[in-house]
Amino acid sequence: MLESGDCPAGIVTIGRNDSIKQAAAKMLTHNVGCLIVNDENGKYIGLVTERDIAHFIADASEDRNSARVDRIMTDQIISCAPGTPASQVRKIMAAHRIRHLPLIENGVVTGILSARDIMGQQLIEDRAAAEEVAMLSNCLKSIDLNEAVEIAAAEVPKLFGAGNCILCLYRDGRQDGAPELLSSNRCPCLGGHMDEAEAIAQQSTEDGYCTDEISPECESCGGKPPRVVIPLEVVGLREAGIGKEKRLSGYLCMCDLDPAVASDRELISYKAKLTREILTAHLTNATRYQQARLSSLTDALTGVGSRKLLEDKLQAECARAERYKRPFSVAIIDFDHFKMINDVLGHATGDEAIRRLAACMKAEKRVPDVLARYGGDEFVILMPETKATDAKVLLERVRAKAQTIRLPQDTSVSISCGVAECDLEHNDPRDVMRRADLALYDAKNGGRNCVRIWDATMAQLLNANDIEIDRIKTLQRRVAGLSEKAEKMFMESIWGLVQALEAKDAYAKTHTENVMHYSVGIAQTMDLGPKHVDLIRRAAMIHDIGKIGIPDAILCKPDELTPHERAMVEQHPMIAVRILEKMSFLEREVMIVRHHHEKWNGQGYPDGLAKTAIPLGARIIGTADMFDALTATRAYHAARSVAEALGILTDSAGYELDPDVVAAAVTWFENIAQQCGKSLPELVLEDLLRWPRGPRPDRSCTELQTDATASPSTEPKHRPVMVALGCGDIDPDPESPDAPC
Ligand code: GH3
Ligand code: MG
Repeated sequence: MLESGDCPAGIVTIGRNDSIKQAAAKMLTHNVGCLIVNDENGKYIGLVTERDIAHFIADASEDRNSARVDRIMTDQIISCAPGTPASQVRKIMAAHRIRHLPLIENGVVTGILSARDIMGQQLIEDRAAAEEVAMLSNCLKSIDLNEAVEIAAAEVPKLFGAGNCILCLYRDGRQDGAPELLSSNRCPCLGGHMDEAEAIAQQSTEDGYCTDEISPECESCGGKPPRVVIPLEVVGLREAGIGKEKRLSGYLCMCDLDPAVASDRELISYKAKLTREILTAHLTNATRYQQARLSSLTDALTGVGSRKLLEDKLQAECARAERYKRPFSVAIIDFDHFKMINDVLGHATGDEAIRRLAACMKAEKRVPDVLARYGGDEFVILMPETKATDAKVLLERVRAKAQTIRLPQDTSVSISCGVAECDLEHNDPRDVMRRADLALYDAKNGGRNCVRIWDATMAQLLNANDIEIDRIKTLQRRVAGLSEKAEKMFMESIWGLVQALEAKDAYAKTHTENVMHYSVGIAQTMDLGPKHVDLIRRAAMIHDIGKIGIPDAILCKPDELTPHERAMVEQHPMIAVRILEKMSFLEREVMIVRHHHEKWNGQGYPDGLAKTAIPLGARIIGTADMFDALTATRAYHAARSVAEALGILTDSAGYELDPDVVAAAVTWFENIAQQCGKSLPELVLEDLLRWPRGPRPDRSCTELQTDATASPSTEPKHRPVMVALGCGDIDPDPESPDAPC
């Protein structure tokens, strides 16, 4: 602190009767800006400054040579006593707009203070204070928010010579609840200064930090003035979910300040301002770090643990299991056909499905289990102290619960789970995860919607390709997913083409659907497996696609066709082949379509194949095609009854048609008649068409939205995702044997 007694400037006097010129010369000689003016007795009566002389010279009317000092001196004596604090000196000078202030003791001038000296001194003091406060940054080493608050409450009072201190931060400045952060360093009253802090924060001056006032509550607890209150405002990052920045408002309050320190209020305020800036910056960084750390451990969409959390916990669990030789299990849970949910119901619904599955698992898991989102539609449950068989029980429960999740359009979802138990001999977190992943892969390959425990047969794969297995598996799944999706999209566009074709011709309108229905009925009666039934259904769907290339005038001609026109119509199987031959995944369907007009006796087209050289699917579709043609009303013939048409089929068996296929058709019709309580001749088309059919694999997504035609008896109560989304039970394995078809 600057004291006036330390005045660096020497005192230079001049007599009142000396000339102004002498005064100017003296100032120059002594390098001072001000002279003390004494009377004849050497008593101080005023002072004369450079400014007074400058004014005098500027006034041309004056006689410069003869004018004396008392003509221009300042005799309004503003002075202060030696020992006046520098801040007080600054205030006096500022209040009187003077640049020199004599120090007078017992009527004797002991020194003179100039504004320049005072400013220089202030700069030195401020720099010292700044350096002292800056040391605080060195002390605030921890980026951990709680620790940073503790350190601040311990270190800041040392800068102010304060006896007590408290740091208090409230969420959004709300004082109604407990503070989010609180650290007390001997503070007896433990806070309650939020209003005061807010008032100080709103003041533009720096003087408000220090006060001699103290509330009765503080005083009754033992708090003592003077006090310093430093308002704090910490703004963290935007918070997931609410989208608002995290805001902590509060204060650091110190009391019982050392009186020597407290006397220079200006300096205290300056230090408080610096401290406020440093604390705000540091606590903001610490808050952001804490938030970032928390968000790296929490999944933003579901609020369950993140992959990072899982990795940390898994590492710890492996170490624990090894130390105590206690098992643990992990399960990887993956949505089935989740891409389809996104594609058809939209990403927002996909997100909702993810959230609901997370909530369902959270409810099912036990307290020590760790639930984390592992990837897009994948979760992991880490189950300490759990054997794989016990883990499976929990996962089966989760699987059952997941099936009760309902998405829009009454779509249900399913999950597949892979479970693995740690290997206590070779306990590596990557190994147990890899094993669970293999088990999941097995669950997906096994038809999905199931829980598989890793077993030794999967181990061969694990050991053989220790490094590549993950990459291979991921790629395989991606490719399978992609080709499934491409296939589905392709079938949807084909279905669009079929419908365009049907729009041309009243007969064709229901023809494709009817042929699909009859073909599936016959194929199921022949006990073909679901893969083959599905293949036949798809082939039936596209069997007439080649007609797209036949002129409408011929297709819709009411009269009998000329031989040339007939030859053109007979081109349609080969046109279909040309349209579809590049689609390798439709290879088998295309083969059936090509031959669906072959005849058992070899007199069909396009290749004249006979008997079992004709693919079975083609023989079935040919029979269904003929039956639908016979029972439809055409321009050139009336519709036959079911019995009549069946009679014609039976007559054609062994000639145009495969006798076994016809026999299967008859059996199917008889079954339906029996179920309807009718005799075969009484059967009508509606009975056949109403008859339950399995889920239709290639219903388009648009159909999903508008489908009102599906027989209620054919639909499962809640549509599983693949059926509801139009994908049915497609065999993902293109290598599956195709013996019968
Ligand atoms: P699979 O039965 O083989 O698991 O088939 P899938 O369609 O579920 O395939 P996979 O698990 O490989 O695909 C996961 C998809 O999840 C891929 C991605 O489009 C989607 N996804 C990833 N993250 C999110 C997310 O946060 N929200 C939504 N809605 N979808 C996501
Ligand atoms: Mg999936």
